[in-house]
Amino acid sequence: MTALIKFEQVSKAFGKLTVVDLLDLEIAKGEFLSLLGPSGSGKTTILMMLAGFEAPSSGAIRLQDKRINHLPAHLRNMGVVFQNYALFPHMTVAENVAFPLLMRGTPKAEIALRVGRALDMVKLTQLKDRKPSQLSGGQQQRVALTRALVFEPTVMLMDEPLGALDKQLREHMQLELRELHRHLGLTIVFVTHDQGEALTMSDRIAVFNAGKIEQLASPDEIYDRPRTRFVAEFIGETN
Ligand code: ADP
Repeated sequence: MTALIKFEQVSKAFGKLTVVDLLDLEIAKGEFLSLLGPSGSGKTTILMMLAGFEAPSSGAIRLQDKRINHLPAHLRNMGVVFQNYALFPHMTVAENVAFPLLMRGTPKAEIALRVGRALDMVKLTQLKDRKPSQLSGGQQQRVALTRALVFEPTVMLMDEPLGALDKQLREHMQLELRELHRHLGLTIVFVTHDQGEALTMSDRIAVFNAGKIEQLASPDEIYDRPRTRFVAEFIGETN
């Protein structure tokens, strides 16, 4: 496995509270890795450190072997999608997607090209002139996804991106996301507390408990051979 991202003995503390504890983790290029665990187990903090919104307290995070502990977020080429995807209500779908590129001073012609390509990829071209209020929850989430994809990132970081959707839509979006992952060969790091979601979507799952990995393995392995009692109980719970 060629690791695109490496966590080497990474810890993160907020005051006296250690929320990520000596984490060693390698993420392969093109893999779909889920960080699964109960609320408060440190998943979001790991994503924040990867995105560049938080710096580790100790240890090293590497991207293609380069240490990036303090590299600013906008130089990491990572797309970020969170649960609360706020779209601009007064802008159309296309304008929403174009906005981050406009802010960076990307030339107009290139914006048009990139937005067109991104909307095409997630099959939103027909809806490009609508306002967010004229879209379903799933369509809005696809716009948020597209806004992250428009940078053509090498890595997508997703924190409970489907959490706000109802069950049916959520399952539909899970399939779409899997498809997108396969199609684009993106590396995806996906935070969820939903066992079923992690089991159906991931190439590998890292199960977290109190800032540490309990088990890191394929969904089959985690399901069939949970290594600790914590993993067995957490996987066995139904939402
Ligand atoms: P998860 O994503 O697994 O729910 P988080 O990474 O969000 O876990 O949080 C882990 C712990 O770190 C929690 O106890 C949370 O309250 C704490 N925490 C997260 N961010 C901060 C912060 N900026 N300041 C203080 N404590 C924080």
